[in-house]
Amino acid sequence: MSTANKKVMVVGGGIAGLTAAWELSQLDIDVELIEKTCFLGGYAIQFCCKATDECVTCGACSAEDMLCNVVNEPKIKVHLATEVEKINKNGKLSASLKKSSPQTDTAEGGVAKGYSKNNSPLLVVVDKSSCKKIPDGAVEFDDIELQNKIDDIDAVVLASGFTPFNAEIKGTYGYNKFNNLVTGLDLEHIIRKNGKVVRPSDGKEPKAVAFIQCVGSRDENLGNLWCSQVCCPYALRMAEQTKYKNPDTDITIFYMDIQNAGKNFPVFYEKCKSDMRFVRNIPVDLYPIKDDKLEMRYMNDDDGLSVKEVFDMVVLSIGIMPGSDNVELSELLDINLNQDGFFACKDKFNRTSTSKDGIFIAGTVQGPKTIAASMAHATQAAGEVMKYLGVSK
Ligand code: SF4
Ligand code: SF4
Repeated sequence: MSTANKKVMVVGGGIAGLTAAWELSQLDIDVELIEKTCFLGGYAIQFCCKATDECVTCGACSAEDMLCNVVNEPKIKVHLATEVEKINKNGKLSASLKKSSPQTDTAEGGVAKGYSKNNSPLLVVVDKSSCKKIPDGAVEFDDIELQNKIDDIDAVVLASGFTPFNAEIKGTYGYNKFNNLVTGLDLEHIIRKNGKVVRPSDGKEPKAVAFIQCVGSRDENLGNLWCSQVCCPYALRMAEQTKYKNPDTDITIFYMDIQNAGKNFPVFYEKCKSDMRFVRNIPVDLYPIKDDKLEMRYMNDDDGLSVKEVFDMVVLSIGIMPGSDNVELSELLDINLNQDGFFACKDKFNRTSTSKDGIFIAGTVQGPKTIAASMAHATQAAGEVMKYLGVSK
């Protein structure tokens, strides 16, 4: 069957949504890409390259490449700062759209890439009231034209992503109270801005940095029992990057287990072991001391005694949580969530289709994934859409 006049709505403009949109467009499908924030690329586009002497396959550049593909593809229509309000089914699907609340706090990633309304289609929207510097060519939130409705949708790919764990919930660590306590995402922004790791308090290079793993994941007290899978390789790449850019910095990783991530990971892990210290223990709490340093306390497994160590900077490896809109989207699309709050797949052999025909899932809406795994999942989702539409590649 021909793909002429077939239309798919992709909800979410992160790496999975971009990949699904791109794959479908290459099969001559018209794609309507809905993104509620003011820029495309999600979290992946905010990550820095973590290459040291060689590429460490972090996948960050794949997000940039895919973003460029999508914005130059006329078969894909992008709707920024837009949310789906209602889905109607009368024969084909139709979607009512609404303007989302302006969310400009993470727009720096998109802006930093230099995209603007001069590209086609529009890529950066800013809210004047909360944006200190309006980038050249960006469009103000109040001026964007909203398309109210999309008709004749043949299928939907839901790729609305995840929410990073809110580190403030781990009250004993004191995130947002102590200057030099940051999350992995904060550290990405620090490296992007400064070209190396510096302390937020004074802009100096830290001499001792600790990474705390499993913040928000594998935590019975929080009811978050799942492993986020990406934060081990992610933290180790960040740690190696720190060591590469700041060779005099001592790094300590506090962990429960190190999650294996792919075929090259064991070799990389061995290198990390020679470059930094690993302590199999999750710290209890942190206190600020003189010079904005942080004193960390953990219980020694051998004798049960409390151990104290001082660091110039501490990085929290926050986990992947279900998207903040998941409940709303599951009701809107009439599809199920699993027990952890991610979207449930129809069966374990088909991890992109849902309980509803014509609605597919891609990327971290289904559960924690790396950039590469999200892209693979989105490609698989596009393939399932084609099968559903009765067209062959
Ligand atoms: S995969 Fe990551 S480390 Fe390798 S070149 Fe791309 S951004 Fe840099
Ligand atoms: S990937 Fe590592 S840091 Fe993340 S939850 Fe799993 S074990 Fe913990």
